[in-house]
Amino acid sequence: MQPHTLSIREAHELLTTKQISSVELTTAVLDHIHKTDPLINAFVTIADELALEQARLADQRLRQSEDITPLTGIPFAVKDCISTRGLRTTCSSKILENYIPPYNATVIDRLSTAGAVLIGKQNMDEFGMGSSCENSAFFDTHNPWDLERVPGGSSGGSAAAVAANMGLFALGEDTGGSIRMPAGFCNVTGLKTTYGRVSRYGLIALVSSFDSIGPMARSAYDCAAVLQSIAGQDLKDATSLPDPIPDYLKMLDKPVKGLRLGIPKEYFQAGMEAGVESSIREAIQKFEELGMEIREVSLPHTTYGLPVYYLVLFAEASANLARFDGTRFGLSVAEGAENVIDQYLQTRREGFGPEVKRRIMLGAYVLSAGYYDAYYLKAQKVRTLLRQDFEAAFEQCDALVAPTCPTTAFKLGEKTDDPLTMYLSDIYVVATNPAGVPSLCVPCGFSNNMPVGMQLIGKHLSEDVLLQIGHAYQSATDWHLKRPAVSK
Ligand code: GLN
Repeated sequence: MQPHTLSIREAHELLTTKQISSVELTTAVLDHIHKTDPLINAFVTIADELALEQARLADQRLRQSEDITPLTGIPFAVKDCISTRGLRTTCSSKILENYIPPYNATVIDRLSTAGAVLIGKQNMDEFGMGSSCENSAFFDTHNPWDLERVPGGSSGGSAAAVAANMGLFALGEDTGGSIRMPAGFCNVTGLKTTYGRVSRYGLIALVSSFDSIGPMARSAYDCAAVLQSIAGQDLKDATSLPDPIPDYLKMLDKPVKGLRLGIPKEYFQAGMEAGVESSIREAIQKFEELGMEIREVSLPHTTYGLPVYYLVLFAEASANLARFDGTRFGLSVAEGAENVIDQYLQTRREGFGPEVKRRIMLGAYVLSAGYYDAYYLKAQKVRTLLRQDFEAAFEQCDALVAPTCPTTAFKLGEKTDDPLTMYLSDIYVVATNPAGVPSLCVPCGFSNNMPVGMQLIGKHLSEDVLLQIGHAYQSATDWHLKRPAVSK
């Protein structure tokens, strides 16, 4: 048995029956990372000592059979925009290169309470802006299925790591597809949670009204186990929801027979890679065999998804990033500055990469007097139409199924010169965030030897239903179990 290849479910079984210790499991994962990550570059920081210290504590808990959760002793890592006390948190930006947060994000505290073992921080597009992980200020992450291809973005490091067995799960952040798109490109199961289901406290904000944290793991079962620990209201995040937390693991085995699955016709348009479309169609057939009712639905404002998403993103991101000016956090370039304004400008000029600067400038533009009504306000109004599209669709069905991305992973460098083409790869994933609804990416096949992901989209707080459908599909298929050669 190679411990780093275990799923959460399998590892939990071995840990609780004392066939393996958390220290052994964590050591195996760390050894595998040190061997494999030089090929992939998924990690910005690997926290060996901290990890082993937590693993020893987890082993104490396991020995005493006290307070054991499905995550006790399980090694995981997080996207580097989630604050970790005492452990560098960079957002893959030069401006935060040496920033060490004085506090933990709520999700980190919750996982620590559950006994999970944090092993490191993962590479991403700078501040979450990108779809390929090539906007990291440090290095590109490579897709473990083909090292010349991108892992997707912006949680590319997290997806690549989980696919290559470098950690049993990861936490990603999804503002406009950043969990689902890389999950699809790397053959990982990833859940974008309902806005407010998981606390954002300690998440370095990209778009405060879109951002959601969620699990990336080897199966829907494993995602359910992680969600169980991180979901729920947090008084430190006023937008977190007070609704009760279902028993996600218990819900998994409920039969899906009779559930209604909608196919949004606008998500099956020209331009989709043939192998992606055929994989999704086969998956739909599988759902039918599982007894689900399939029907076509329409989300008529889909074409406005991208413009609404990007306009609101530019506006909110430019406001959120205003706090990085060299005064309180991270990089400060004061040398030669004549006054404090100079210092702000120098720090931001040196600290931010080109994509971040582009979006800050566009944000200042869409919020400026004279353009505000035409762009920002208009986008917010159309955002309501996007939300209403989903509400109308969910009157006719329990979940929607669609491709995660129109293509499989593209080559490194293929889209870096053309931001618009890069933005277009987000076409199917961005509308859910303005609407706030959850969506689960599930591996469903291969096209040209690269993984294909489908997404299941549900109504607010229906993570239990999405996970149930994902689990039923994964119990009937084995796409999610396939691993790239480097994962051994
Ligand atoms: N591709 C999206 C963007 O560039 C991803 C954002 C995200 O979800 N963090 O904005």
